[in-house]
Amino acid sequence: MRPSAVKGTYDVLPDDQPRWHALLATTRRILGRAGVDEISTPVFEHSEVFEKSVGESADLVVQKEMYRFEDRGGRSLTLRPEFTAGVLRAFIEHGMHTWPAPVKLWSAGPAFRAENVQRGRFRQFHQVNCELVGGASALLDAEAIALLVDVLAGLGLRGVHVKVGSVGDPEDRQRYNAYLREALEPQAEALSEVSRERLRLNPLRVLDSKDAGDQALLAPLQRPLERLGGEARAHFDAVTAVLEAWGVPFEIDASIVRGLDYYRRTAFEVHHAGIGAQSALGGGGRYDGLIAQLGGPDVPGIGWAFGIERVFDALSGAGVAAAARERPLAYLVALDETAVAELAQLARALRSEHRIEHGYVARNPGKGLRDADRSGARLAVMRGSRERADGTFQVKDLRSGEQHTVPEDALAEHLRRSATGTTTDTDAALAG
Ligand code: AMP
Repeated sequence: MRPSAVKGTYDVLPDDQPRWHALLATTRRILGRAGVDEISTPVFEHSEVFEKSVGESADLVVQKEMYRFEDRGGRSLTLRPEFTAGVLRAFIEHGMHTWPAPVKLWSAGPAFRAENVQRGRFRQFHQVNCELVGGASALLDAEAIALLVDVLAGLGLRGVHVKVGSVGDPEDRQRYNAYLREALEPQAEALSEVSRERLRLNPLRVLDSKDAGDQALLAPLQRPLERLGGEARAHFDAVTAVLEAWGVPFEIDASIVRGLDYYRRTAFEVHHAGIGAQSALGGGGRYDGLIAQLGGPDVPGIGWAFGIERVFDALSGAGVAAAARERPLAYLVALDETAVAELAQLARALRSEHRIEHGYVARNPGKGLRDADRSGARLAVMRGSRERADGTFQVKDLRSGEQHTVPEDALAEHLRRSATGTTTDTDAALAG
């Protein structure tokens, strides 16, 4: 049997690398200008980091999705299903509450969830994650949302829908959970199994259900946003007022609930119509109380993440051109055995300035030019016994078909001139 990648995982092949680099470069530029610095944390953590962060009410779905294992010392470790808990663990460990507030951190990398695989749902997927820690002001909520919108726009994505809601303060949440229980418990038999479980552990999450029967039962009920306490309501109104003042387009969505129950007050999602049923590109929310829950100081924060695969899906659906792999400026063709060694050495020298490839074996001109073409090079540089006797190279422009005899000492300058004025697609994408 041919070896294959684990279900729900995939390889990023060379042709797909440039769009990753372009995405990260754009993200880094936009977030960096807003004072958000990059942090990298391990892909696995002590399991309790994630267990504490999801809280006691974590339902079976969240629990079962985690890749948890024991290492050889019998310690329970978990592959990160999301970034927030690990970044906040680092925040606590490095005493970042003593840094000038707010501390703004972003990360990118793989996350792991043992989910049902479908379009837009992988088991190893990738996120860009951003955390703004150490501020309770509505300005920070608005900045978080605006930065997510700015990054997606910077990537060239149009037609993003931003939905903003609020799950209220813990007291509001308790009251709302009681309200949901009172309304739904008498009809619990009619709920899906997952929702029955959620009704017991974390009723708010019943609102996340995609089950049509559940949705019908939920339809007449009020949403968290309609039952906010005074302070959470004032905070929500302040956030939306700032977003309006900044001209950030959004809609209020009363039914937004974030998957994990550490969220407080502001919750938001960004959607894109072009990516099928899993239309969420990303989302986030405020998590005041989470850092204390993880064993740190009582510092508020807000964060978001978007899924890189889903953003790529949306971008390609919208016809936004992906950056291309850098192609060689020149492909060196050896027309005899002596030239093989000469050109290998020449390639090494020229690579201080350009991407240069060669064939490692002697070729006749026809085959050599075909190799050069397949490499995607702009120029083919040929060398055989006649060129050696004359002290020259034959240089063929593979697009125009023009061919020149270039003296040895003029080759470097000839290549330099060919290279300037024409940037590669990758350079353009990175610069854009
Ligand atoms: P979440 O942490 O669940 O709020 O997810 C944030 C974003 O990550 C989602 O909106 C998706 O874009 C992406 N995402 C979450 N789970 C997956 C997955 N299994 N496969 C691909 N992308 C995912």
